[in-house]
Parts: sequence; structure tokens; C-alpha cells
Amino acid sequence: MDCRPGCGACCIVVSISSAIPGMPHGKPAGIPCLHLTNDYRCQLFGKPERPIVCQSLRPAPDMCGRSDEEAFAILSALEQATRPSGPG
Ligand code: SF4
Ligand code: SF4
Repeated sequence: MDCRPGCGACCIVVSISSAIPGMPHGKPAGIPCLHLTNDYRCQLFGKPERPIVCQSLRPAPDMCGRSDEEAFAILSALEQATRPSGPG
């Protein structure tokens, strides 16, 4: 499948541990990436500075669901399930 224009769920919900230009410590879960535009597109798309993790993430029905709301729900559950336990 193709990425659904205007979704942006994986650029908001998911935490990214590698550095992103302007976000040297990566991106916390639930915080929109600095490079997500107002219309939910990636400013770095096609550029070499786009993080590897973003380049390798492929849209798939079991992640993206059938709607933006479903994608947010699926990714939130996934993020919670994989969140490292510990203080805070
Ligand atoms: S969750 Fe899927 S459809 Fe939504 S922005 Fe990410 S890849 Fe695209
Ligand atoms: S760099 Fe682009 S694809 Fe990666 S999280 Fe940010 S906006 Fe999304």
C-alpha cells in the first residue's frame, strides 16, 4: 500500500531513538516530528538527511489501518507495548 496523504500517524505517535536533523536525541513518542509539515508530509522526503528508520518504514495495512484514526490507535498500542519499562 502507499502512505495515506495527510495521515502522519507514524511521524507523531512513534518514538524515534536515532538523531533527526534538529532533534539530536531523536523524537519522543506522541510528539510530532520537527519535519512534519502542517499538511502532514515529510519535509525531508527524498533527502539524504531523512533518518534511516523513516526511509525503511514501509506503509502496511497492519500498521496503517484503514483510516488515520486506526493508524493512530494501532501505533499507540504498539508504542505502549514496546516502551522500555523503568522510572518515568
Ligand atoms: S501510519 Fe501509514 S499511512 Fe499513516 S503516515 Fe505512517 S505510513 Fe503513512
Ligand atoms: S523525518 Fe519525516 S518521515 Fe521521519 S518522522 Fe520526521 S516527518 Fe516523519
